Amino acid sequence: MNMHALHKTSATPDTASFIDIRRQIHAAPELGGDTPHTAALVAEMLESWGYEVHRNIGGHGLVGVLRNGDGSRTLGIRGDMDALPMDEKNQFAHASRVPGRMHACGHDGHTTILLAAAAQLAATRQFNGTLNLIFQPDEEGLAGAKAMIDDGLFERFPCDAVFALHNMPGIPVGTCVVQAGPTMASSERVKINITGKGGHGAMPELTIDPVPVLASLINAIQTIKSRVLAVEEYAVISIGSVQAGTVYNIIPDEASMLISVRTDTSETQQKINNRLTEIVKGHEQTFGVKIDLSMVQLAPALVNHERETEILRQSLSPLFAEGQLLSKMPKKVMGTEDFAYMLEERPGCYFMLGNGTGEFHGCSVHNPHYDFNDELIELGAQCWVKLAEHYLA
Ligand SMILES: [Zn+2]
Ligand SMILES: [Zn+2]
Repeated sequence: MNMHALHKTSATPDTASFIDIRRQIHAAPELGGDTPHTAALVAEMLESWGYEVHRNIGGHGLVGVLRNGDGSRTLGIRGDMDALPMDEKNQFAHASRVPGRMHACGHDGHTTILLAAAAQLAATRQFNGTLNLIFQPDEEGLAGAKAMIDDGLFERFPCDAVFALHNMPGIPVGTCVVQAGPTMASSERVKINITGKGGHGAMPELTIDPVPVLASLINAIQTIKSRVLAVEEYAVISIGSVQAGTVYNIIPDEASMLISVRTDTSETQQKINNRLTEIVKGHEQTFGVKIDLSMVQLAPALVNHERETEILRQSLSPLFAEGQLLSKMPKKVMGTEDFAYMLEERPGCYFMLGNGTGEFHGCSVHNPHYDFNDELIELGAQCWVKLAEHYLA
């Protein structure tokens, strides 16, 4: 494999060079917010094509700015750069060289797609306005987008709209999903801590046992999805951990549980949170215990804006055959994506590109055998070029 990808002499590398770049990033994954080498590689290439590069936004985040013509419109496109803390089990030449780190979600590919689009847009300049290419770390930790926003991303780089994409294994290359409305789930970590009064297992009358309270709470919480929400309100409520006691003859002082709550709209999330609060208050009164409830939002629901979704669909329509540009996900997804924070700030759309089928490309993301499909680099880059030329016409 040819690894001399970073031709400094060539203004616009060809597709083969971008495949090399993708494989370089894949072989040297970086985790979370700690992406200095990937960010440096991106910055160096953007500068070589004439972009004004702004580094260290919310950590290692960076923005490449390219202005053309006299247009006042502004467009943001985001690519994510981080990998996952896991061992890669693939044996091919570009497999991760770092134990415990792997690009198992294809962010190596998303970064490369945006670079390939950047190169072409700088060479052809068929747009009128300002392009802000946003390279974000720590998507997997659901912290990178928020960190960049909190560091003034949209004040410093105004964007009339923002867009992002993700590859989708199991869907053929050449198929994409551009869906309006709720598209990815919110994620919330809920902790419930029950404080009673412990004592000897032989004398329960002298205690306030938190264990039956825990059991009752488990049952009550199951009724939220089945009895409180309507069928069209999507939610997953999973109790992932329960803790109480040590040995058979001691009634413990405390019991606790951890719950994952996912929904596809903030309204459904609010409804669940309200009901959880009521259930907890009711149990305090019924059982005479004290219950602490903490709800931490990890990411909001990702909701694509109607107008921008339609603009994206029109921009992409020349690239996809009839029936390959889908307007609905084949299956409801309850995974999360922190681009949702950007869509709370600016209108936009997050869409999916089929990563193909077969051994590596059809393999689920976050699996040790997954690999991003290099065939998507050219197609993905054309998607961003078409969007930029259409949005900044
Ligand atoms: Zn992921
Ligand atoms: Zn991902």
